[in-house]
Amino acid sequence: MDLNLTREETRFRDELRAWLAAHVPRDRDHAREQSVEEHFAFLRGWQRTVFDGGWAGISWPREYGGRGASLMEQVIFWQEMALANAPPMANVLGIGLVGPTVIAFGTEAQKARYLRKILSGEEIWCQGFSEPNAGSDFAGLQTEARLEGTHYVVNGQKVWTSFGWAADWCQLVVRTDPNVPKHKGLTVLLVDMKSPGVEVRPLRQMTGETEFNEVFFRDVRVPIENVVGKVNQGWDVAIGTLMHERGTLGAGMQVTYKRNMDRLIALSRTIQRNGRPAAQDPLIRQKLAQCYAEVHIMHTNQMRAFSRISAAGVPGPEGSIQKIFWSELNQRLQQVAQELLGPYGQLEGGDPRSIDHGAWAYGYLRARGNTIEAGTSEIQRNIIGHFVLGLPRSY
Ligand SMILES: Cc1cc2nc3c(=O)[nH]c(=O)nc-3n(C[C@H](O)[C@H](O)[C@H](O)COP(=O)(O)OP(=O)(O)OC[C@H]3O[C@@H](n4cnc5c(N)ncnc54)[C@H](O)[C@@H]3O)c2cc1C
Repeated sequence: MDLNLTREETRFRDELRAWLAAHVPRDRDHAREQSVEEHFAFLRGWQRTVFDGGWAGISWPREYGGRGASLMEQVIFWQEMALANAPPMANVLGIGLVGPTVIAFGTEAQKARYLRKILSGEEIWCQGFSEPNAGSDFAGLQTEARLEGTHYVVNGQKVWTSFGWAADWCQLVVRTDPNVPKHKGLTVLLVDMKSPGVEVRPLRQMTGETEFNEVFFRDVRVPIENVVGKVNQGWDVAIGTLMHERGTLGAGMQVTYKRNMDRLIALSRTIQRNGRPAAQDPLIRQKLAQCYAEVHIMHTNQMRAFSRISAAGVPGPEGSIQKIFWSELNQRLQQVAQELLGPYGQLEGGDPRSIDHGAWAYGYLRARGNTIEAGTSEIQRNIIGHFVLGLPRSY
């Protein structure tokens, strides 16, 4: 594949770069003093700015508020956002997962109702897949939905629901037929989180955040027009969502990792190790060079994966290769950062004007979840073994 940008892509990048230079909020040091709610409101405001500027949902159809751009332009968008150090958008799961799923499987009425509000950040979404006894094996989920007239009545529990506390809507996978093999009795519902019977309980992580939650459903009534795809064929819809998650989640990360690498290399020249700059320590040098090479490998692999998605129209099981690579690389990179920084790496305090203010401690702790979220590394290797290499199933 040709990794050079076409003239049109270059024009797109330059226009976006200029827009970001003019609009990315500069003063973000106050973020650490903000409550979670205040910070989320800030991210929501930023998403609205991106939407109003016409940059949200780059590859989504124009009639739903997107830009109808190519996948490559979508990739450029993520990379430029990371390069400009732009804040993330508040509706991460809505834009990355729910929207593409509704575009692929939803009715026209659903597309008209939900897509634009996902892009503008007016309605925040969460993803209700995992349950206490159904994570990797999520086809074994037990949250049930019973049809009563024009509504499904939902009972059960989800867990690890990111953004559950902030969400207006949930893409929920439920069991609608308990009498068929487990993959065959599932259905995807769009559930209003303000419905009577929905209860959200935040879970505190080791980073100190309550990014994810338990969500309980007790006799929650969901209109049948909120079914996405066909009843009892929710497995296909959910796999479509997960392929988007695995195929595209790491898109902007290569730039973030590269920025972290540049920062670490600069720090290695000033931090002292055994009476000399750490950059002269042979072990540190080896580790930094290895990470640097891997960040470049990640970029090349990503471009290859995106060019395949462009050709096929949808992400394939190769997305699992990306998922393993970015998540495990981030853990290696954060580990090297801690070895380089020594005890300073644990500090949350320091100079509040510095971009490093607490960032390395947070990065190290948060990276542990990378190899679990969106499917664990073991599950990704099983997918590659079976669907890419054609090996027998693992179970
Ligand atoms: C930061 C974060 C955010 C998340 N956000 C969401 C969200 O928004 N919505 C949501 O629904 N879920 C979310 N999750 C949940 C996530 O999808 C699950 O944690 C993940 O799928 C693993 O499931 P589990 O935790 O039940 O572990 P289990 O499935 O119980 O796995 C335990 C261990 O066994 C291994 N294992 C299991 N089966 C196999 C097998 N067949 N072969 C080899 N090894 C196996 C696993 O790799 C793992 O090491 C999030 C998780 C994290 C960490």
